[in-house]
Amino acid sequence: MNLALLFDEDFIAPDRVVLKGRRLNHIQSVLGIATGDQLPVGRVNGLMGLGEVVRLSDSEVELVVVLDQKPPTPLPLTLILAMPRPKMFRRILQTSATLGIKDIWLINSYKVEKSFWQTPLLSDENLREDLTLGLEQAKDTGMPSVHIRKLFKPFVEDELPALLKDKQALVAHPGTANVCPTHLNRAAALCIGPEGGFTPYEVGKLEEAGCQSVHLGPRILRVETAVPVLVTRLFDVCL
Ligand code: SAH
Repeated sequence: MNLALLFDEDFIAPDRVVLKGRRLNHIQSVLGIATGDQLPVGRVNGLMGLGEVVRLSDSEVELVVVLDQKPPTPLPLTLILAMPRPKMFRRILQTSATLGIKDIWLINSYKVEKSFWQTPLLSDENLREDLTLGLEQAKDTGMPSVHIRKLFKPFVEDELPALLKDKQALVAHPGTANVCPTHLNRAAALCIGPEGGFTPYEVGKLEEAGCQSVHLGPRILRVETAVPVLVTRLFDVCL
């Protein structure tokens, strides 16, 4: 937690918050912060700044906050991801939030096991928790939106073409003819397949909707690796 993300319900006055639970534990045991110390804070979907600890007990911490800095620029990227297996899902979601992705679509695909959709990790509360961890890691406040589409064909035929409008659209698919572009730095949409990959039918449907198939070389990357590799390839994120 490089920044404590503050939600509306944490505020007891315009410049004062009370934090409990995970954030309190982290402030006490990892950061070792005492009364009078300052730590980076940010308001969800708002400004960032510093919070000064004015009261600290075993059950809560009270901070006076000054929020006067803009969060980092979001990535102009729509990430369309075949639903990963739950074990990988949390890390991929957190990493996506850390990298600055703000628009995430979780879609079905032939090789997504039906049981993956049953995970409690897809509840609003759990999604918010994982996205929060990703934002706190990055020092960002812009909460990504997550859209869940459990049917591939209606999504690709009815929704995807509009979603791709004015964007460079790519589907990462090993073994395809074109190499993934670099330094794109413009609005883009990126489809990433499941562990078993997209089927040829699915790649065809994504291409019909306007995506170009691209590869990342002969090595097959796990989705959790493919996401940061693609992001740093397409966007100059260090600037
Ligand atoms: N066995 C699958 C690999 C899936 S890897 C296959 O051969 O298709 C999971 C996803 O990560 C892929 O669907 C793709 O979107 C992305 N990916 C991993 N390595 C890649 C590579 N070298 N080139 C393009 N995409 C890759």
